[in-house]
Amino acid sequence: MRGLLIVVSGASGTGKGTVCKKLLSELPNVHYSISATTRQPRQGEVDGREYYFISEDEFKRWIADGKFLEYAEVYGNFYGTPLTKIEERLNRGEDVLLEIDVQGALNVKRKCPDGVYIFLLPPSLDELKCRIEGRGSETPDSLKRRLQAAVAEIQIGREYDYAVVNDTVDKAVAQIEAILVAERCRVARSADKSNLEVFK
Ligand code: ADP
Ligand code: 5GP
Repeated sequence: MRGLLIVVSGASGTGKGTVCKKLLSELPNVHYSISATTRQPRQGEVDGREYYFISEDEFKRWIADGKFLEYAEVYGNFYGTPLTKIEERLNRGEDVLLEIDVQGALNVKRKCPDGVYIFLLPPSLDELKCRIEGRGSETPDSLKRRLQAAVAEIQIGREYDYAVVNDTVDKAVAQIEAILVAERCRVARSADKSNLEVFK
């Protein structure tokens, strides 16, 4: 059976990174797609682990060379999903997880309608602000920019297949795992490949 292309989005500070990290530690068949970005690494971030940190010139070269499945400008920096290995992995039956913004996700949805599109929500906007401030990663300017974008981004969440509230990390991870179990049982995914005895 072909692997699942799993796309997770949500406003900055919702907890995507935290939730995805736990999900990946629990599901060894799911591979994280490392994005490229022109933003500066945060403390503790490692090139080639959280992101490929590249210059704007290099990012433009990657675009020209057709290396991205999608890319977008988010909060003043460029972010893109490298194409490498995604198709290969899906064909091998491995799942691929993209943690990308709403513009990128809608672009991928047009290209890959059989993906699983999950929108992560904060319990409230006040809690969202506390989480970004608590992370201590943003300048006042960047914090303002991210909070201003959040309301519009959350509205785009309506275009996704699933909405998961990140109240506690454990609950959010359990809900995403349940979504993935259900997606693998979809008749459309199994019947096409005649994986179910009854359809042969
Ligand atoms: P994102 O990747 O969506 O920008 P992060 O995963 O970096 O968000 O999380 C933002 C901050 O919120 C981090 O400091 C993280 O530890 C905290 N956080 C994430 N999920 C929760 C949660 N369910 N409850 C409380 N704090 C959380
Ligand atoms: P951060 O700077 O907080 O790591 O990420 C900022 C935003 O960029 C988040 O919404 C994150 O999901 C998004 N993002 C990360 N990688 C990509 C990518 O490859 N493509 C797109 N479109 N957005 C991305």
